[in-house]
Amino acid sequence: MAKRDYYDVLGLPKTASADDIKSAYRRLVRQYHPDVAKENPKAAEEKFKEVSEAYEVLADPEKRRRYDQMGFQGVETDFGPGGFSWQNFTHAGDLEDLIGQSPLFEQLFANFGMPFAGGRSAGRGRDVEVGVRLPIAAALHGARPTVEVPQTTPCPDCRGTGARGGTAFETCPDCNGSGRVRRVQNRGYSQFITVGACPRCNGTGRRILDRCPTCAGSGLRRTVERIEITVPPGVEDGAVFRVPGHGALERAGGRPGDLFVQVLLEMPPEFRRDGTDVFSEATIALPIALLGGEVTIPTLDGHASLKVPAGTQPETQFRLKGNGFPRLGRSGRGDLLVTVHVEIPRALSGHEKDLVREALGTGAKGAATRRESLFRRRG
Ligand SMILES: [Zn+2]
Ligand SMILES: [Zn+2]
Repeated sequence: MAKRDYYDVLGLPKTASADDIKSAYRRLVRQYHPDVAKENPKAAEEKFKEVSEAYEVLADPEKRRRYDQMGFQGVETDFGPGGFSWQNFTHAGDLEDLIGQSPLFEQLFANFGMPFAGGRSAGRGRDVEVGVRLPIAAALHGARPTVEVPQTTPCPDCRGTGARGGTAFETCPDCNGSGRVRRVQNRGYSQFITVGACPRCNGTGRRILDRCPTCAGSGLRRTVERIEITVPPGVEDGAVFRVPGHGALERAGGRPGDLFVQVLLEMPPEFRRDGTDVFSEATIALPIALLGGEVTIPTLDGHASLKVPAGTQPETQFRLKGNGFPRLGRSGRGDLLVTVHVEIPRALSGHEKDLVREALGTGAKGAATRRESLFRRRG
């Protein structure tokens, strides 16, 4: 597509004043704004690009002079590959970086309300960490909790530009909209070149002509963002989920940091987790240990029945397969390991004592006697 003359694009004569250029730009931007040009947003976007590029050049006295003298050749390095906007990132291939480097694109994105993107020059916001408490059921079945995060978002009234209506700004004359300035220092025979954020526009590349009344020119709005996160079955206590791009946005035109959500599982105190297995303890009555039987024990899901065989010794560990935690990202569950304590009656009546002696003899005394004799032999 052949490039149109920049004056033609803005519908102005070559003698147009700086104010003429500004007002023509504002008028056209409003005209091609996608909210207005709903019937053909793609064409509107193309028009918008064309208008922005023309404004970019004609609003800058130096660029305008070069354009007047040499035509597109005089300014093409500003937009073509290898021009100043692009050269630092030809190796990176990162769209975000390119967007951040080009005032044209930053402006385009800001005005079209697209996802906010800024490059290194625009600065990345802080990462934000929040915790979310979840019942143990979340680790069994998964959950989709919603976390509330204090957030700053681009002001909708000015689309994050800080300028009234999103258009009442001009390109920063100090950095030509790049948001960066080069400082050249000569020390002896050496020349040092440093590139830093433009102090005049604070790295935004824009100079606000009329402040947005909603955000007082900050371009930011304080909100509480509600974000749903997906917690998979088998999640560990303390697991951290990263939600890219939902951290703090510290400056309009900047890039937000990431949000980190830490899961804190509310583990019932009677259970101890080890990976997918879970440990618990249960106390059974002496007759059950002696004769066998079925007891009900608490599990992560509720209750389960445990078959106790006759002659179960104190501190025996039983394994209930599939009653542990789900395996993260795989099928199946771990096991519940129950350690069984045997409740010994503390006081028996005389009659009960007779019955026990009759049934069991004096085995305890016998064992103690054997052990004593063992010591005597070794000693
Ligand atoms: Zn605003
Ligand atoms: Zn600047």
